Amino acid sequence: LIQLEHVSKWYGSFAVLTDCSTTIEQGEVVVVCGPSGSGKSTLIKTINGLEPFQAGKILVDGVSVGDSKTSLTALRSQVGMVFQNFELFPHLSVMDNLTLAQMKVLKKDQSMASEQGLKYLNRVGLIDHKDKFPGQLSGGQQQRVAIARALCMQPKVMLFDEPTSALDPEMVGEVLDVMVQLAHDGMTMICVTHEMGFAKKVSNRVIFMDQGRIVEDCSKDEFFNASANRSPRAQEFLSKII
Ligand code: ATP
Ligand code: MG
Repeated sequence: LIQLEHVSKWYGSFAVLTDCSTTIEQGEVVVVCGPSGSGKSTLIKTINGLEPFQAGKILVDGVSVGDSKTSLTALRSQVGMVFQNFELFPHLSVMDNLTLAQMKVLKKDQSMASEQGLKYLNRVGLIDHKDKFPGQLSGGQQQRVAIARALCMQPKVMLFDEPTSALDPEMVGEVLDVMVQLAHDGMTMICVTHEMGFAKKVSNRVIFMDQGRIVEDCSKDEFFNASANRSPRAQEFLSKII
């Protein structure tokens, strides 16, 4: 579903991504981890066109991301993204947050968009909060709204950039539960996260990045169990977070 071929990106002379290649199949759940500054956020943002890159190729369902003929709006409606800080529209109600892009981008009418919004709000357990504003919700609730909003666009893949790292510990579980459910429903997911419990439970694959390079790209069992084959950098990283 997603192919990265030799993707590289520089800020001036600083290489933020170097020769990153991987393939993500439909239905796979891939966890991306690695030290701060290793390029994880940059890598996943290149997939929905939020970060331009200077070399290599990215295909999403056969469509080339860097190509000037590719519509970024169309691409982003197929690639849902959830950020660390929720990024909901603060001046819009939960329901309006869910329906806005459906109406603007997918050209749905209000009633169709609302129906879809209610369906996903129900799925993340927040139907009773539909008329509230983001500021009236807890962090965990806001993040679940952000996930529902992305799902309303019926994306082919969902990208998560540390979706639980800005949350108080007691709210991490409710967001992870939604993500686990989504994985079980067969959604293709790429998750930057340090939640190794989540990685062990639902991921198929782990990508470990260091200094802009994909250092490890292997099955979760290989990553967590085959310590003999692990790179020293991944070994050091894991010993710090587990
Ligand atoms: P973290 O775990 O802290 O979120 P990350 O792995 O997501 O880190 P990125 O945010 O992708 O890392 O950043 C990768 C590198 O690119 C960092 O060294 C960062 O300082 C650098 N960087 C990011 N944006 C810019 C920019 N606009 N100009 C120059 N350097 C940048
Ligand atoms: Mg990051």
